[in-house]
Formats: sequence, structure tokens, C-alpha cells
Amino acid sequence: MELLEERILHDGNVLGENVLKVDSFLTHQVDGELMAAIGEAFVEAFRNEEITKVVTIEASGIAPAVYTAQKLGVPMIFAKKGNSLTMNDELLTAEVYSFTKQVTSTVSVSKKFLDETDHVLIVDDFLANGQAAKGLIDITQKAGASIAGVGIVIEKSFQKGRALLEDTGTRVVSLARLDGFVNGKVVFREADI
Ligand code: 5GP
Repeated sequence: MELLEERILHDGNVLGENVLKVDSFLTHQVDGELMAAIGEAFVEAFRNEEITKVVTIEASGIAPAVYTAQKLGVPMIFAKKGNSLTMNDELLTAEVYSFTKQVTSTVSVSKKFLDETDHVLIVDDFLANGQAAKGLIDITQKAGASIAGVGIVIEKSFQKGRALLEDTGTRVVSLARLDGFVNGKVVFREADI
């Protein structure tokens, strides 16, 4: 997605060997116009699927997921991290190792929001080693729901996440695919759309 690649080149900051910081438009401050275009791109990519829910993980997946869900006219659900006194429903859970925080946490979705009648599009901001998206696949499968695919805003193709997800038979659509970082600059490979 050209608009996204341009924005990454203009505003993205490479941190260390394998982290891209995009907090001015995606992971902290959010550009609504870009998110709307991202939502449209996912809707177009999965137009042959009868999606009933968009599922993501808090926090940075929420922005692209909610714009996608709004465009589809379906609800967005974000898996919550950790425990909360207000989460007193029956829960669907998965263990997720966080690439950026380097801790494992239990993420959960209330059973009342996802069941076997649902066809789910999973959306996340980044794909690195695939742990977050795999956790969402596990939760969706525990609910008995089917999976249309995984929509990723920025895939770091030099990490092993895509292979992990595709090994589960899940279609992955990434709007930007990064081959790596050379001298602090992002190198792209051809994206899925
Ligand atoms: P994975 O679970 O695929 O290993 O990592 C994906 C999750 O880690 C995403 O939900 C995202 O929040 C975070 N993440 C992974 N790599 C990056 C990165 O390079 N930059 C940022 N900002 N977040 C990342």
C-alpha cells in the first residue's frame, strides 16, 4: 500500500536491529485518514468473505481494527491483557509473548462476544514472530468461530511470524512488508496489496 509505505519512510524510526517506531501515526498518535484507507484496503482484500467480527489485541491493534470494522459494518473486539475486576464473564484465553515488552501475558475475550456463528478477520498493527496473531487465532478457534484471515498493517518479513500463521492454514494479508533495515533505513519487499 503505497500511502502507508510513504508514511513509513517519512515518519518511521528504526530502533536497533529489528524494531520500527511508528508512534506518530499508528501506535501512539493515530492518523484517522490513514487508518480509514487501511480499513478500506483490508475490506477490499477480504471482500469475498462474510466477516461478522474483527478481532485484535490491545492496544495498538485497536485503531486499524476499528476502522476496518466500521467499514465492514460489524463489531470490533479487542483481546484484553491481564486481569480486571470488571472481567467477570466466562473468558476465552491465550498466552501471548510480547515481542516489544518481552513478557508473557494472558489475553482474553469474553465468551459472550464470539461464538461458532462468527467468521472472524484478525487485524494487528505489526507482525513480527506471530505470537499476538497466533493467540488471537487460538481464541477464535476456542470460540468455535471460523477465520477469514489475518490483516497486518506492517509485517517484518525478516521475522518468522508469517510462516507460523500460514502453517495454521490462515491467509495473511500485509499492507507493508519490510525486508529489513539497512543503515537505519527501511527496505521494503512487495506487499500483498
Ligand atoms: P509478534 O507477536 O508477531 O511477535 O509481534 C507483534 C506485536 O508486537 C504487535 O502487536 C506489536 O504491538 C508489537 N511489535 C512487534 N514488532 C514491532 C515493531 O517493530 N514496532 C512496534 N511499534 N511494535 C512491534
